[in-house]
Amino acid sequence: MQGLVGEPLMARPADLVLWRSGRDYFAAGRKVFRLSGGNYAEPPRLQVLDEDLMQRLRGRRKGRRPNWLRRDPEETRALLGDANIVRLVRLEEEAISFLQDVRREHADLPPVVSWSGGKDSTVASVLAQRAFPDERIPHVFADTTIELPSTYEFMREFRRENPAVPFLIGMPARDFFELCREIGPPSRIQRWCCTTHKAAPLTDVMRAVAGDSQVLAVTGLRRHESAGRQSYDRVSNRHKISIQLQVNPLVDWHDFDIWLWHLVHRPAMNEAYRWGLDRVGCMYCPSGGGWSDHLISSIYPAKIAAWRDLLVELFSASGVGDAESYVDSGQWRGRSTGNIGGAYLAGTRAYEIDTVPCQDDPYSVTYELTANFDLRVLSELLKPFGTVHRQIEPGFCGDFEVTGKWGAFSVHAVPRWRKVRVTFDRPATRRRLMGTIRLQLRKLQACVGCGACAALCQRGAIVSVGRNYRIREDQCTHCLECVRGLKAGCRAAHSLNVRRVGQHA
Ligand code: SF4
Ligand code: SF4
Repeated sequence: MQGLVGEPLMARPADLVLWRSGRDYFAAGRKVFRLSGGNYAEPPRLQVLDEDLMQRLRGRRKGRRPNWLRRDPEETRALLGDANIVRLVRLEEEAISFLQDVRREHADLPPVVSWSGGKDSTVASVLAQRAFPDERIPHVFADTTIELPSTYEFMREFRRENPAVPFLIGMPARDFFELCREIGPPSRIQRWCCTTHKAAPLTDVMRAVAGDSQVLAVTGLRRHESAGRQSYDRVSNRHKISIQLQVNPLVDWHDFDIWLWHLVHRPAMNEAYRWGLDRVGCMYCPSGGGWSDHLISSIYPAKIAAWRDLLVELFSASGVGDAESYVDSGQWRGRSTGNIGGAYLAGTRAYEIDTVPCQDDPYSVTYELTANFDLRVLSELLKPFGTVHRQIEPGFCGDFEVTGKWGAFSVHAVPRWRKVRVTFDRPATRRRLMGTIRLQLRKLQACVGCGACAALCQRGAIVSVGRNYRIREDQCTHCLECVRGLKAGCRAAHSLNVRRVGQHA
């Protein structure tokens, strides 16, 4: 607590007498103080709401210590547990029987636990193990490589405590900091990292468990975590990871239920909660804010200082006037496109494509790109549309015939001229595919090998190793999800988009 405001708030921090809700702190059932403000650069302000209690917490009041301060932390735990055990047992039993029912209904799907290093997925893990005691359910973890160090420590402890649990770790395709340089730092709106560093690695490991089938992924997701999660279903197919049928046994548990569970069962816990973080995520999460920024920078000052330096460097290089204020005030979290108040992130033009209808031929369209491209990659990117027959003249141009369920078209591409001419078999095909082909061509010039496309494909047909984009013809069902399922057709292009989010050239 001392690191938060620069002075000790309690004489004995180990006492279980100070409780927090948001940024208000309570003792003996009364509000003692509130912390406000605070960010990477500034500590928060301490507003004492009850001077008498504050003095007692600090051990500065003479005389007999009040009962609530003399109570042993174990006694507090026992009191809370005894008062609420009926509710807790009911919740656990209901969640376990729900898991067993879902498992019976989807007996063909292998179960996994999606473990994140947080308090909720720890409860989900224990309940899943109790629901299926005869199985060793694999736990999958996406190592974003930018987790809090306390999460890595907790992961080691969790594995020590659960030696029989198979634990699979997925890694992202690209380095986070390199991607920040190439497609701009993530923001609340441009949260590409959730796809590239969370969903894509999780997809990889789930695929290792399930092969071509889906997995039954037990998570700790809860509606009460945020407004955005209010509409979550208990069993869901609507999410970024196409290979999973998501099962959320705790979806209606309150924060209180989760904390109560931890107080009663006392498993190992991520230390970050003890500092006051409500949720444990990545070090540099753009969805965080002044408060979590301040907490994390108090604990890991060197890492946050390096991140702040990188942000200032990138936004200065993009032409943002006062980059330091832009970063320290948290404005960087609000960027929605590659255009920041008239300044541009590096590479913002890389995704742009002009579509020029042919005057003489109503069946043809020419796409004008802004960069040279590779004909072999183009050949791969046409596969979602159907079977591709190709003829590539080394170094100059390529001709492709594509036939499939969406219609037929031919392609004449000249990398040196940065042009791709497409001739459709009929007007209906042109109407259906003209925009979709443009989305796909964005990948041709903007792909940085982030792994998002592979995560979207239910069939595991996309094998992209770095920028080497390949599609396995034998697996592709031509569903076009990897094209239409990504805004701007490409996560990287969307992050650099200079038009209003949701509108693409
Ligand atoms: S998502 Fe997969 S199966 Fe569907 S078109 Fe793309 S590569 Fe083919
Ligand atoms: S095309 Fe775009 S979204 Fe797909 S892997 Fe490449 S960078 Fe990621």
